[in-house]
Amino acid sequence: MANQPRCPLCSQDADQALQATANSLHYSCKRCGRFFYSGLTFQDLPSLQVLTLLCGYVREQNERGNSAIEVNKGVAENIQNLAPRGVQEQADRLLQAIARKSEWPGFKVPLDARVDYPLGYCANHEEFNFFLGMLQARRMIDNFSGPSGETTSSLTGDGWSHVDQLRKSNVESLKVFVAMSFAADVSAAFTDAIKPAVEACGYRPLRIDNKDYLGGIFDEIVAEVRESRFVVADLTGQRQGVYYEAGYALGLGLPVVLTCRKDDLKNVHFDAKHMNILVWKNPLKLVKPLQDRIRAVIGLGPGVTF
Ligand SMILES: [Zn+2]
Repeated sequence: MANQPRCPLCSQDADQALQATANSLHYSCKRCGRFFYSGLTFQDLPSLQVLTLLCGYVREQNERGNSAIEVNKGVAENIQNLAPRGVQEQADRLLQAIARKSEWPGFKVPLDARVDYPLGYCANHEEFNFFLGMLQARRMIDNFSGPSGETTSSLTGDGWSHVDQLRKSNVESLKVFVAMSFAADVSAAFTDAIKPAVEACGYRPLRIDNKDYLGGIFDEIVAEVRESRFVVADLTGQRQGVYYEAGYALGLGLPVVLTCRKDDLKNVHFDAKHMNILVWKNPLKLVKPLQDRIRAVIGLGPGVTF
């Protein structure tokens, strides 16, 4: 069909005609899922690799029941921190996706490699089949072929144990959720202190900007905190959301590193006052104490020493 729209993420035919609204384009793609696209041109998405990750990310959010995914510049720039890195993490994401689709332990999940390859953040069906084979070789899943060529996969007992482990400890996660105000006068604390300090310790800071996630922000935050190794919460500005995110992480048993600008320390909520807050005045001088605190409380990421 001449006017069949193309999905901007996987470059294949989208299922529904795109609808243009004032500021955004809505797509429904059987590979990527439903999403809308705003303020982005193809020039903003430089590499096929970024598109592959975006496709995997949008599909993953859809699978989690979050169907109003906005793809914009902020998401594209953040994608390296949202997506798995390396073969092992990719295999884990695929295993978790199959677990999510399992209606009960032993359930055989139908998978079509040509449609479902984004479940493993894969570039195509060949890469997807590689990961299915890898998970089977590690006895995490069993793969079955039906009489008409359809394939199903089912988690083994070891597969379920591994998924439980991933859910519980986040020990393999390098993601660090950063909760903070988005006021302009605080943003340097992220760019000049929290981001470089977290990265120097071998982790990946992720800050979710309300503006980047118009739909499903609450689900988004809950999911990201749950997958994080620890949380850095800067209390400057006394935003309720920051307290909520820090409290949620503590409730999950995740370490939380609290920071606050000196002039706002007096306003910190009573319940948080007794906690060991790193106080900063100049963001550049927060880098070292924050690194030391991360090293002491959480430890350094894989392969990092200082
Ligand atoms: Zn697509």
